[in-house]
Amino acid sequence: MIDHAKTPAVALTIAGSDSSGGAGIQADLKTFTVLGVYGASAITALTAQNTVGVRGVHTTPVEFLKAQIAAVLDDLKVNASKIGMLANAEIIKTVAAAIETYRLHPIVLDPVMVATSGDRLLAADAIAALREELIPRVDLLTPNLIEAADLLQEQPVEDIHAVEDQARRLLKLGCGAVLIKGGHGSGDVAIDLLVDKAGCQIFERPRLITQNTHGTGCTLSAAITAYLAMGQDLRSAVGCAKEFVWHALESATQQKLGHGSGPLDH
Ligand code: PLP
Repeated sequence: MIDHAKTPAVALTIAGSDSSGGAGIQADLKTFTVLGVYGASAITALTAQNTVGVRGVHTTPVEFLKAQIAAVLDDLKVNASKIGMLANAEIIKTVAAAIETYRLHPIVLDPVMVATSGDRLLAADAIAALREELIPRVDLLTPNLIEAADLLQEQPVEDIHAVEDQARRLLKLGCGAVLIKGGHGSGDVAIDLLVDKAGCQIFERPRLITQNTHGTGCTLSAAITAYLAMGQDLRSAVGCAKEFVWHALESATQQKLGHGSGPLDH
């Protein structure tokens, strides 16, 4: 028996692997670790990719995805979870069922659809399953401007009132809160907008001009999950995670890794 044994906060990521280490499961586990949270993972898909693009996707058979989730949750007490790349509707339905079985809350959903390189990470016909099966079961949805528009089957908007209107309509799909990220917009300031039943909050940061943005969305949702696992409420978790990602982006502006969109500096 170990004296003075301590149990750290535990976060689980259910997401895809990025062989180049900048996004997906690898970004999530690095983020959990540097924020002092123990990270576990269930891998939905392997990708063969680098900073330039995605060369191939190999999805996990759903029975084996279920086995990974069960192995983690039968043993570890998970304090918060996140969902990233899901690849197809069958995997979406499997993860939705796992949320019910294990009451996986709080849970953050980053609705990964298309990589920065333009490669699809979610089948186009899986968006309905995302809206109907998964979004109503999560505590926070974190789309960027393009994903928010895709989920609503509309054109992307940038005007802050139009973004707020989209966030409110996404909230009506049944999730606990929506954070629309403005990183893909224009202007000197990057604005993220959080809407929940209590109201709306804006998070602003000076926009950084950098090519090294690979894995930004994964890192943000992982950082929110880590802060939730440590017991913070949603608004402070989002604020702290924004701060963390901004510094990881800023510190990577001078970094040179690979020939395309390089990773953040965790
Ligand atoms: N690969 C995996 C496995 C991901 O989960 C993601 C994003 O969530 C990406 C690639 C795309 O990352 P980015 O668009 O930041 O390049």
